[in-house]
Amino acid sequence: LSQLFRPLDMLGMVYRTIRQGLIDMAAMFDLIDTDAEVVDAPDARPLAVSGGHVRFEDVRFGYEGERPILKGIDIEVAAGSTLAIVGPSGAGKSTIARLLYRFYDLSGGRITIDGQDIARVTQASLRASIGIVPQDTVLFNDTIGYNIGYGRAGATAEEIRAAARGAAIDRFIDSLPQGYESEVGERGLKLSGGEKQRVAIARTLLKDPPLLILDEATSALDSRTEAEILDTLGAVSARRTTITIAHRLSTIVDADQIVVLDAGRVAERGTHAELMARDGLYAEMWARQAAEREAGEALAAE
Ligand code: ADP
Ligand code: MG
Repeated sequence: LSQLFRPLDMLGMVYRTIRQGLIDMAAMFDLIDTDAEVVDAPDARPLAVSGGHVRFEDVRFGYEGERPILKGIDIEVAAGSTLAIVGPSGAGKSTIARLLYRFYDLSGGRITIDGQDIARVTQASLRASIGIVPQDTVLFNDTIGYNIGYGRAGATAEEIRAAARGAAIDRFIDSLPQGYESEVGERGLKLSGGEKQRVAIARTLLKDPPLLILDEATSALDSRTEAEILDTLGAVSARRTTITIAHRLSTIVDADQIVVLDAGRVAERGTHAELMARDGLYAEMWARQAAEREAGEALAAE
């Protein structure tokens, strides 16, 4: 009888894996009801990443009908450099990340990676080249080892350990009675926000993509945990083209380039020093956040 059930188990596992993968992707992009119909071009070729030079040229996009969300975005990220995108909530920051991953097709303009239009390469090769650490990582109801190993099919136990080390979560896992076999997720061990983000970083290390997107990857964490995770992420993003979407400006002062997005347009761009000297929107956001920080510290000191 068990012979009979084995194929069913297998099917169940495959189904579970696919379903969880979709849930994970959807949650990653806050898109539960995505109705995007992106298809590979008939002559689509695999993306060949040389250095990871990303370019948005007059990119226009809207989710539905008449309401434009991005209204002509020009952005260039040099190979291996870090671009930070900041701006008010609803400005279109996450939309930029979704478009680079080609969750939707553009209504105008184009996006290229090392000169190749992303609409003309296979989606599988595009997505294999991009790693994403979202704001809130959704874990599968499975072991912590599985959750890390998901970053790359066929990863060995040793590779999973190395990724955990890189994300500074190896000691934590070793301290668990069942180690990498510990069940996590809804029915298992509840991980803290910082631990979950470390699992996401380990996944990304295992995937080892040339392009990295951090979409408010640390904004749900308290500031001490955030500082620790940012340290780890700094090492991960070194030498990789990185687009980091940030809420707290203090976390992106060292970015090679900062773009301030406002209502679907690039309002300002430059380094932190350049934008402060400009005394515009960025400087205003900075002053507001500094005041909030001080108020928070005063409150904590009481
Ligand atoms: P940000 O990340 O800067 O906060 P988003 O890129 O998530 O902003 O969203 C930009 C705008 O697009 C917002 O007005 C948001 O309501 C809208 N939007 C986001 N996702 C969808 C969607 N799936 N369908 C329709 N509108 C959306
Ligand atoms: Mg967002």
